[in-house]
Amino acid sequence: MMRQYELVDRVKRYNPNADEEMLDRAYVYAMKAHGSQKRASGDPFFAHPLEVAAILTDMRLDDATIIAAVLHDTVEDTAATIDEIRHLFGDEIARLVDGLTKLKKLDFVSKKATQGENFRKLLLAVAADVRVLLVKLADRLHNMRTLDHMRSDKRLRIAEETVEIYAPLAGRMGMQEIREELEELAFRHIKPDAHALITAKLAGFVDINQGLIGEIEAELGQRFAERGITATVSGRAKRPYSVWRKMERKSISFEQLSDIFGFRVIVPNVEDCYRVLGVIHTTWAMVPGRYKDYISTPKQNDYRSIHTTVVGPGHQRVELQIRTEGMDRVAEFGVAAHAIYKDGRTISAKDMTESSAYQWLRRTVDTLAESASPEEFLEHTKLELFHDQVFCFSPKGLLIALPRGATPIDFAYAVHTDVGNSAVGSKINGRNAPLLTELQNGDEVEIVRSNGQVPPAAWESLVVTGKARAAIRRATRAAVRRQYAGLGRQILDRAFDRAGRPLNDEKLKAALPRLARASVEDVLASVGRGEMFSGDVVRAVYPDLETEKRPMPEGGAGPGWFDLKQGENLKFKLPKADDGNAIPIAGMGSDLAVRFPPNGGAVPGDRIVGIMSAGEGVTIYPIQSPALAAFDNEPERWLDVRWDLEDKRKRRFPARIALQSINEPGTLAQITTVIAEHDGNIDSVKMDRPNSDFTDMTVDLTVWDLKHLNAIISELRQKPVVSAVERIIA
Ligand code: MN
Repeated sequence: MMRQYELVDRVKRYNPNADEEMLDRAYVYAMKAHGSQKRASGDPFFAHPLEVAAILTDMRLDDATIIAAVLHDTVEDTAATIDEIRHLFGDEIARLVDGLTKLKKLDFVSKKATQGENFRKLLLAVAADVRVLLVKLADRLHNMRTLDHMRSDKRLRIAEETVEIYAPLAGRMGMQEIREELEELAFRHIKPDAHALITAKLAGFVDINQGLIGEIEAELGQRFAERGITATVSGRAKRPYSVWRKMERKSISFEQLSDIFGFRVIVPNVEDCYRVLGVIHTTWAMVPGRYKDYISTPKQNDYRSIHTTVVGPGHQRVELQIRTEGMDRVAEFGVAAHAIYKDGRTISAKDMTESSAYQWLRRTVDTLAESASPEEFLEHTKLELFHDQVFCFSPKGLLIALPRGATPIDFAYAVHTDVGNSAVGSKINGRNAPLLTELQNGDEVEIVRSNGQVPPAAWESLVVTGKARAAIRRATRAAVRRQYAGLGRQILDRAFDRAGRPLNDEKLKAALPRLARASVEDVLASVGRGEMFSGDVVRAVYPDLETEKRPMPEGGAGPGWFDLKQGENLKFKLPKADDGNAIPIAGMGSDLAVRFPPNGGAVPGDRIVGIMSAGEGVTIYPIQSPALAAFDNEPERWLDVRWDLEDKRKRRFPARIALQSINEPGTLAQITTVIAEHDGNIDSVKMDRPNSDFTDMTVDLTVWDLKHLNAIISELRQKPVVSAVERIIA
């Protein structure tokens, strides 16, 4: 295992100004945190973060990245907390470790084909800082190097994930070396037979052509030297994975492969690249279609190089890559080569947002989202792509992409409509959270459900996904319809009862054509909404029934006019009266089909009456309400109702009072104090000053019931500053 001083030495080799003290502190902190934890190999766990850090020192990354690498598994796997890390190592490192902790959740996500794209996006969205991705890749690389110790099923899953997600990610980030190593390691586990075969054949091929690499290197070097070009030439056989890919792609056998050797020519400057190319093309026959100039047209991951293939010495096809040292470094380390060190100075995270490396990463990130061919990606520079989305997990590891601003309600509907409709609460990362919390990337969201619940209609305007909105609308519509139908049935029950005829669904069905409705439920809902009168339904079901309507008496009618039988007078029901005939009214909010007039409605204790309004169901008025006069000529709209407040949930009801008070300082305060002290809730106060001595006020408040309202009124009357109080009824 790497010693503390070794880690510091590795960093100091390329960064003499490294924060030695902080590196030491991180080393000790992580060592203590991981304690006696062991890896699958039996090695101490702490060796792993150190190896990850070592990989990153090869890329010459900054202190913060190296320290984050040392700490990367502490929060997820030990008692360490992000707060503690922030306290000990500062915000920047805490942010990096936090990003890594979130990414780590990805390791437990079950591999689902449809999640591949989301997966890559999540990776990038969570890793807002390029350095988080770099640590993640180094982490994966070390895990792949030590994969042999894992269980075989786990091995396969991790290897497949590496090929599908991490190797392409490294490639798109321009880190060819890491990409190739990841692919190579994964290939060995995914296709052990093919890997063994190709490795053996390659070894045989190299054996037969012993010395050829050296010969070609020497010949090339000599030709360049003749022209006065300083160049380093190095050749190698291709790696098993790229050989296998080529065999698969072209459906050819190993023996049919031509260019097994690849050579790299490194020169001091761009001009030399083209001079080298000239030498090569004039010396050997070039293979058509293989020449590519990525110097004049760099790849989108900033890769620059000239590629060509020639029939070289010994009639061996030779693939050549020609580039400068700088280009070579980018080809090997990609973003890491750009990112971090310039003139021995660390670029801070803030500088990163400005730097070309950062911009370059953003471009790369965009391509990943498209996951199509690299050629496409300049056309798809949707920079805001990931700012628009959040990625969250279900407790089972399902990954869900949502628009930014999404809430647990959106999440619930994204999982399943039933989950959304039955949602009553949520837990985010294990903690209870309101359903309206804005979700963050990487959040794990658990929905608390309850059956028999209807999503509140207000949710419709609070959610951000169309799916949730449509589902809520459907559910609330269905619920409202059910309530109207329920109310309609109660109204009809009573109407048929009074007519002395039985009501059943069969008879109602038979009368549907006469009622011009498609179903029994339609009829019930229409009656509940007040679009169809109960008397019409009775007559439609029993056309023979004598339906004599009484003429309206002088001075208007009472609710008794509602019934069909002559001579019967309905009585108003006192609160909680045990009367099976009156329709129970539980109050606002409980029953969408029932409403109260806004300006001074009924409160429990008032004798009440319901008025049916087309499309709006029932409005409840106190029977002394002057508004009722307007319905005198429409007896069919009157409904006999009673309070039903057995419900345990206590509700407040709106009431309005008018006051006249003496105009002196503190009057308003005295009045509001009386109301507040008596547990009245003031919604609004309107003041009017008819003359300088008195003020008229209208107070809208909510109360529990009539007794409560009366108590407040009588208390107000006792105040010397109050000259008059009365209740206003709409
Ligand atoms: Mn790790």
